[in-house]
Amino acid sequence: MHQRLQTCLAELEERRDSYLGYPVARDFSFSELADFLDVPLNNLGDPFSDSTWQMATRELEREVLELAAGWMRAPTGEWWGYVCNGGSEGNLYGLYLARELFPDAVAYFSQATHYSVSKNLHLLNMRHIMIRADEHGEMDYEDLRESIRINRDKPVIIFANIGTTMTEARDDLTRIRAILDELAVSQRYIHADAAFIGLAAPFIEPRPACDFEDGADSISISGHKFIGCPIPCGIVLARKHYVDRIARSIAYIGSLDTTISGSRNGLTPLLLWYRLKTLGREGMRQRVEQALGVADWTEQHLREAGIPVWRNEQAFTLVFPRPADTIVERFQLASEGQWSHLICVPGVTRDMIQALVSSMREDAEQ
Ligand SMILES: *Cc1c(COP(=O)(O)O)cnc(C)c1O
Repeated sequence: MHQRLQTCLAELEERRDSYLGYPVARDFSFSELADFLDVPLNNLGDPFSDSTWQMATRELEREVLELAAGWMRAPTGEWWGYVCNGGSEGNLYGLYLARELFPDAVAYFSQATHYSVSKNLHLLNMRHIMIRADEHGEMDYEDLRESIRINRDKPVIIFANIGTTMTEARDDLTRIRAILDELAVSQRYIHADAAFIGLAAPFIEPRPACDFEDGADSISISGHKFIGCPIPCGIVLARKHYVDRIARSIAYIGSLDTTISGSRNGLTPLLLWYRLKTLGREGMRQRVEQALGVADWTEQHLREAGIPVWRNEQAFTLVFPRPADTIVERFQLASEGQWSHLICVPGVTRDMIQALVSSMREDAEQ
C-alpha cells in the first residue's frame, strides 16, 4: 500500500511541475494543517448562524469571507457569503438569487461563458439569451443592447465574465450598466463570474471592474485557481437582502438553509483561511505582480520564437496556435479548436516556459 501511495504521489509531483494550461496555482504548502485530517469536519448550514453541530470551522470561514468581502468592496453589513465547492457552485448560487428576485427575467451571457453556465440556467429553468463575444472573448455590447431592447418588458439578469476561461477576457461592468441605464432597465441583477482572477483583481492595474462598487450583486471566485488550494473550493458573495429572501430556518440542524448543499466542506474554509492569512494583502499583491511579470516575459519570449501569441490586456493567459498533440499533452495545454492557451499563474517559472518553447521548436524543425 505504501508503495502505491508513493508511486501515485511521485506521478502527481512530476505532472505538477509541467502543467501550463490551467488557471491553477501550485505555489503553496499546507502540511502544517495535516492534523485537521483526523477530525470529522462539516460546516453544515449558514456560516453566520450557529448550529447544534459544532465540528466546524465556521469562525474561520467568516474571517475568510470578511477578508474577501473587503477586497471585493462589499457594502459594510450588507453582504453575505459562504465557502462553496468552486466557481461553478458560486455561479449557480448567483443565478439562483437572481431568479428568486426576478422569476420572469431573461439572463444574458456571452458565448465565451464557462460551459457550466448553460447547465445551471437549465437547472434553474431560466429564460436566457446568448450574446456574441468578440474575437478576444469580450461581450459584444451592441448585441447586448439590441437583445435587451427587444425584451424591454422583462427584468434583466447579466452574467458577466471577469476573465473568460479560454482568453481571460473581462466584460466591462461599467459599459453594461450604462446600457441598462440608457434603456431605463430598473429591474436588474448583475452576477460577476470572477472564478479565476477574483481576489487578484484588486491588485491588477488597471483594476478589472468586477466588484460590488462596480455594480455586481453577487460574485463567484474559485479558491483553487489564483489563490491556490489542494482541494477545489470557492467563495461566493452576494448582497445580503437578496439572501434574506431565500433563507429558511431548519430545526434539525439548528441553522439556516441558505447554501446549496447541506453538508459543507469544513476543511476548505480552513485551507483558505491559512492561505489568505499567510499571504496577506501584500503577499497577494506580490504574487500578482510576479505572475504578470512572467506573463510579459512569456509573451515576448514566444514572439521571439516566432509563435504568433496574443493576450488580453493585463491577462495572465496567453493564446497561441495549438501545437502538436504530444506537446498539448505533456504541458496539459487546454485547447479549443485551433487555439491553445497557457496561463501564467503563480508558480509558473521561466524554465517551464522555456521547456515548452524548446519542444515547440523541435517539433517545428522535424
Ligand atoms: C474555472 C471557471 C469556472 C468554474 O469554476 P470551478 O471552480 O472549476 O467550479 C467558472 N467560470 C470561469 C470563468 C472559470 O474559469
